[in-house]
Amino acid sequence: MVLADLSSQLDKKEITSEDLIQQTLKSVDEKNSKVGAFIEVDKEYLFQMAKASDERRAKDRPLSQYDGIPIGMKDNILVLNQKSECSSKILKDFISPYDATVTDKLKKYGFIPMGRLNMDEFAMGSSTENSALLKAKNPYDLERAPGGSSGGSAAAVSANMVSVSLGSDTGGSIRQPAAFCGVVGLKPTYGTVSRYGLVAFGSSFDQIGPLANSVDDVETIWSKTVGFDQKDSTSVQHEGSNSKDKMVIGYSKSFLDQCDDVVRESIEASMKIIEKKHILKAIELPNHKYAGQVYYIVTNSEASANLARFDGIRYGRREEGDSLIETYENSRSAGFGPEVKRRILLGTFALSSGYYDAFYGRAQKARNLIKHDYENAFNDVDAILIPTTPTAPFKLGERIEDPLAMYAADLFTVGASLAGIPAMSLPSPFEGLPIGVQLQAPYFEEERLFQLGRDIEVEFKAPGPSL
Ligand code: GLN
Repeated sequence: MVLADLSSQLDKKEITSEDLIQQTLKSVDEKNSKVGAFIEVDKEYLFQMAKASDERRAKDRPLSQYDGIPIGMKDNILVLNQKSECSSKILKDFISPYDATVTDKLKKYGFIPMGRLNMDEFAMGSSTENSALLKAKNPYDLERAPGGSSGGSAAAVSANMVSVSLGSDTGGSIRQPAAFCGVVGLKPTYGTVSRYGLVAFGSSFDQIGPLANSVDDVETIWSKTVGFDQKDSTSVQHEGSNSKDKMVIGYSKSFLDQCDDVVRESIEASMKIIEKKHILKAIELPNHKYAGQVYYIVTNSEASANLARFDGIRYGRREEGDSLIETYENSRSAGFGPEVKRRILLGTFALSSGYYDAFYGRAQKARNLIKHDYENAFNDVDAILIPTTPTAPFKLGERIEDPLAMYAADLFTVGASLAGIPAMSLPSPFEGLPIGVQLQAPYFEEERLFQLGRDIEVEFKAPGPSL
């Protein structure tokens, strides 16, 4: 159900928040054993929050029209006094000592944080198979991956356990699982949604954003979470958008050529829809071909620094050794999974003296070139339309042994992350397995994404899985 319907039912007192939580838990009970979207739900907490909401509504003093509605939270976004483990064994039983800024903001509107949604360990991956805690599956086809790293956030919405959820996107982790699960997912402009209380992966990339079954709901949650935050040193004020009725939309032939046929045909169908109201124009992003390599060098470098804090002393799991160093080693060896270790090693290498200039330094220069490509493109076009992924959802197990094949799932999403621009994925016309179309816009132009998204959405809505 979409937010507007839930809100109206609550407003008319057709249901209470407690009913809603009851229904949501029932649907989680029925579907989660198949889909693996939620790692855990804290029933006591949910009913306590729902009760407080119902009391406010009984006094006709709801915090907003959304008071009492649950929102799924990825396991790397902190909720006060709730567990947050980033799907990692190293954070076993870690209890959040504070609310992330987004959590705090949503609570002020009465939303009820409903956690914890499954993810790749520390948000590293494209299939949620790197979760150390639970297997996640694609609700459209349980043999296939839901995408990642916010696979739980996408699957929970796709399977209609919750109407809305939050994910995080470093190089595509909201958009790619949204595409795979047939839902809408937005990565906002870098810096516009606070990262305070989001466990850091690649700090110059990470952004929190919403997933939902409609563009309207994504916009609603985005509008409640966006804004400058003093607690985040890279936070920027979101400037107003300047959306237009008729836009020039860039597309890239070279992206289409890299796709499987079913994706190409679907994206061409979306282009046809867009062409009814807007003008299509071919563009080129000449340095985009380096985006994958650049992304993995820079994010692994940032991750190796960010993950140094998980040492067995300050947080989570500790494996005692005979010395401090041995305790670090034992804790990190036992606590981190193979993909996280691979990235820490690669990142440490890229940052080490002697290699810094050759790898990290060069990658940063190439990052600038990619950013400039986008700036040049946006001199000619108002927004860009490209596929979200080169393929339809792949089978579980198909890529997990081959990191490069897994990384290839992000080829079309990492560019916007390197540049910091906003990007959204929504269902593109498909039959069978979901396909996502990705819209990208200049900094702060989320409104354009919503407008174009609605233009596509009126002509095609994902049918939803038959679970
Ligand atoms: N799949 C990409 C990676 O593994 C993106 C992850 C993300 O956006 N958090 O790095």
